[in-house]
Amino acid sequence: MDRIGFIGLGNMGRPMASNLVRKGFPLVVFDVSPAPLRHLEQLGARAAANCAAVADDSDIVVTMLPNSASVEEVLLGPGGVLARLRAGCAIMDMSTVDPMLTDRIASAAAGKGIAFVDAPVGRLASHAERGESLFMAGGTAEAFARVRPLLEAMGTTIHHCGGAGTGMRTKLVNNYLAIVSCAFNAEALALSQRFGLSLGKTLDVVHGTTATNGQLKIAWAAKVLKGDTEPGFTIDLAHKDLTLIVDAANAVKVPMPIGAAARESFSAARTQGQGAKDFSAMVDVLCDFAHITRPRLP
Ligand code: NAD
Repeated sequence: MDRIGFIGLGNMGRPMASNLVRKGFPLVVFDVSPAPLRHLEQLGARAAANCAAVADDSDIVVTMLPNSASVEEVLLGPGGVLARLRAGCAIMDMSTVDPMLTDRIASAAAGKGIAFVDAPVGRLASHAERGESLFMAGGTAEAFARVRPLLEAMGTTIHHCGGAGTGMRTKLVNNYLAIVSCAFNAEALALSQRFGLSLGKTLDVVHGTTATNGQLKIAWAAKVLKGDTEPGFTIDLAHKDLTLIVDAANAVKVPMPIGAAARESFSAARTQGQGAKDFSAMVDVLCDFAHITRPRLP
């Protein structure tokens, strides 16, 4: 059985790695933060001292890190994973990053005889806890087959999108829709509140028409509208993803006027110190700014 290394144990990585260890995969883990390391140790994983030590003791290294800079440092940096991993091993990056970085990692890995799969994650942190995530994987058929048992242990829906880099690009398309909808949901509910409408009745109406969307119907109903703004997926990460999306689109000459405007709404929320809140809290940020009562379901 392949020995698995897992780097990045945050809101997503901790539950994903926990599912791997619970399902019997031999796991060595690392995070710069000690608290999730202790959690994984209690479940039976082994904590490594750094990324190089993870690479030394693993056949497949999985990364679930916040952004492009951290993935570049951990995988391509001096003392990073690629510098230590042996030919015949594999890397699976599950973070959401710049697809041009994904392409560079894939080619650096290929140069060392190391398989690479990009497999960013769809759905929410609550799905990751239950092992019900969705994955969008990019890589050769052989590389995909090798990581598939890991994906099956962490999620319920697995898409092989094509060669390396196609998982990440699919993720940007998906997150464009998911994150922009948070920005316009916030405006719509602030307007409903200002009009003095019943929140429950407004939701009943829009959930029954083409106006509805998964953020409003599934995510928000369980988060901000219940008064829970703990992440989940932070406003900082939503801003990061919209920046990746708008930049990647512009690089291939696709104008994204709505995406750019939505990104600036998230930017304003971060300026107000709300970056660490769940991205559904965009509606609270807007309501506070306009002195409107925050929308809450009983
Ligand atoms: P997070 O910030 O909660 O977790 C990131 C973890 O990486 C933290 O524990 C941090 O300490 C660790 N880390 C940072 N730099 C490191 C380094 N150099 N070495 C080792 N560990 C390091 O983020 P998250 O919400 O778990 O998201 C992870 C990735 O998954 C992001 O790219 C995000 O966009 C994506 N994603 C998140 C969600 C979600 O709902 N939270 C859903 C799908 C995809």
